[in-house]
Amino acid sequence: KGDPRLQAISNAIRVVPHFPKQGIMFQDITTLLLDHKAFKHTVDIFVDRYKGMDISVVAGVEARGFMFGTAIALAIGAKFVPLRKPKKLPGEVIAEAYELEYGSDCLEMHVGAVEAGERAIVIDDLVATGGTLSAAIRLLERVGAQVVECGCVIGLREVKGQRRLNGKPLYILVEPR
Ligand code: AMP
Repeated sequence: KGDPRLQAISNAIRVVPHFPKQGIMFQDITTLLLDHKAFKHTVDIFVDRYKGMDISVVAGVEARGFMFGTAIALAIGAKFVPLRKPKKLPGEVIAEAYELEYGSDCLEMHVGAVEAGERAIVIDDLVATGGTLSAAIRLLERVGAQVVECGCVIGLREVKGQRRLNGKPLYILVEPR
């Protein structure tokens, strides 16, 4: 903290009240993607953190985790593994369901994409309850990977003070007020 890049990142994220429904303060990272400097700062901060950590897998959560995760994977020399919504991946998959405010959803990962013993990070744009990241962690652990950390651009109040998920460290760049 105290890094001036974090303020630039925070400023580039548009907040859209009542999207996609009443009461939700939607954190829109598409405006961050439009701001080359702020987008680069975002990727650079993650890359500086993870480059020396012997990470071989960057797992990105569909869809916004892909936008940051692929850039991070290329820069640190790791493979990128998409964790996708059901019925998108053509190969054999394993699946993990997670609870949403209303109902549930599911993430899938290709069997064979990650090998036992690999060191992985999970990347998404935002963590709220942590349900999505928890499903991602379970997928990676089921194939014997070691989840070193979850990294998110934005952490909502729900996770304030809670810096671990399923016992895994959680790294957040900005927290909206
Ligand atoms: P959760 O599983 O509760 O941690 O929710 C995180 C997932 O839902 C992420 O993939 C986010 O992209 C999305 N999400 C939840 N709340 C918001 C929000 N206020 N603004 C933007 N995306 C959100």
